[in-house]
Amino acid sequence: MITRRHFCATAASAAILARAPNALAQTSYELVIKGGRVIDPSIGIDAVRDVAISAGKIAAVAPNITVSAADTIDARGKLVVPGLIDIHVHAGRTKEGPPMILQDGVTGWVDAGSGGADNMDAIAAVARGAPQIGRCLINIARTGVAPGGELHDLTRANVDLARGAIARNRDIVIGVKGRMSNAVAGTNDLEVLRRAQAAADGLPVMIHVGQNYSPLRSYLSLLKRGDIVTHIYAPAPNGLLDDKGRLIPDVMQARRRGILFDFGNGVNDHFDWATVEAATKQDFWPDTFSTDWNVMSRTTGVVDMPNVMSKLLMFGMPLSAVIAAGTVNAARTFPAFDDRGTLNVGAPADVAILELREGEFEFLDNYKGTRKGKQRLFPIATVIGGKKAPARA
Ligand SMILES: [Zn+2]
Repeated sequence: MITRRHFCATAASAAILARAPNALAQTSYELVIKGGRVIDPSIGIDAVRDVAISAGKIAAVAPNITVSAADTIDARGKLVVPGLIDIHVHAGRTKEGPPMILQDGVTGWVDAGSGGADNMDAIAAVARGAPQIGRCLINIARTGVAPGGELHDLTRANVDLARGAIARNRDIVIGVKGRMSNAVAGTNDLEVLRRAQAAADGLPVMIHVGQNYSPLRSYLSLLKRGDIVTHIYAPAPNGLLDDKGRLIPDVMQARRRGILFDFGNGVNDHFDWATVEAATKQDFWPDTFSTDWNVMSRTTGVVDMPNVMSKLLMFGMPLSAVIAAGTVNAARTFPAFDDRGTLNVGAPADVAILELREGEFEFLDNYKGTRKGKQRLFPIATVIGGKKAPARA
């Protein structure tokens, strides 16, 4: 079973709202997305439906909407899903980043640790100017992510400076990021995590794990409900598998306590196929996907968010669960995304139109390992706040 902790409550309340009669009174819509296979796990829909948009919000999801519309998108043969939410990107580094991922169907993003106290203001400004909702996790290291590892010098993990930058950017900073890997923090890892939690002061903390100095369970025991582990399938040492390839019990125990586990594709040392295979065979699936995106990602094994989602599809994660992880599960991770990740009537009209192609597709891990899958999701079009986003070149 794939755990989706908010799923039942969300589906129940959404079912009531979906029957609201206001859609019938509408005389025309701004945009109707016609004839696609609508998959929205937040409201329990997987069926051919039209999606009508009015005043930048979802106005109706119903079969054969015939009311006139100023504009239409023909989505026959395509998937129509809530706009994708990527909770670990580095799109805040430049203003060119956010429009690029919008073309990939990403209508909400979280920059995870590009900025620390010294450069958070600039990254928050990029987020404020983005075409879609963008939020940030402040790196506990004042420098943000730095080449060679930002936390070998523990004085950079300055709680007061981080708190000050959070206070200056309350509208954008929604949590704290700490990179735990030996190459980033060395033996400082546990103290770094404690300082990240002190700076967070109740906000979620995301930790980047993989080849850590300390065992994973020592981090998990410090994490609280709603905290996030990214790069969950990072190979040994000190990953989620023991030396016999069994999932360490602490991982499922942490999941039961409400700790969230994020895929975190990235480029170097974040996952290999063997670890994904061993963990998923033991029924350990990600709560959320993320790309760890930067402006170079299209030329790496990341490519785009739909490509990353396709990798878990290849390992047998059901399509509805894959869509849930890329939409509603990600939205539930941070309160700032409360009304996102859904096509519920009244929600902001952020929609991703994807195509699930059948064929032979090659996917890459972080160690030049390739696997061939029979399906791949491609981004086709994005609607943001009820408007068509520019198509990908
Ligand atoms: Zn990252």
